[in-house]
Amino acid sequence: MTFDYDDQNIFAKILRGEIPNNTVFENDHALAFRDINPQAAVHILVIPKGAYVSIDDFAANASAAEQAGFFAAVATVCASGVDEGFRAIANTRTHGVQEVPHFHMHIVGGEQLGRMLPA
Ligand code: 5GP
Repeated sequence: MTFDYDDQNIFAKILRGEIPNNTVFENDHALAFRDINPQAAVHILVIPKGAYVSIDDFAANASAAEQAGFFAAVATVCASGVDEGFRAIANTRTHGVQEVPHFHMHIVGGEQLGRMLPA
């Protein structure tokens, strides 16, 4: 599978500083910021700084340092405010209803969530 990255996507613009964001954590390889349209009390997006379209692109093609940096950011985000649990979501392409074509992990929690999918 090939992954074509569109550098005009909104998260690429956030990474370039062209659009403001509410940053909660940043390291060399990842940025975490609050979702503009939160679906729960806590709703944070963690994105790699590299140009990866989706979680499968990132898993297949990101370096070990990029993957470690990304998951270090996930760990830091999840260490504050979601002690009772959370959901980590990576919507992917059409069937997964991914709107922004730059890999992002939603960390959603801070309150009781409903079931992931309708029963
Ligand atoms: P997706 O549907 O691609 O998994 O999720 C994209 C997410 O990005 C949505 O939850 C949406 O609210 C969020 N989002 C879209 N544009 C912006 C923006 O400009 N700033 C921030 N902080 N979040 C955004």
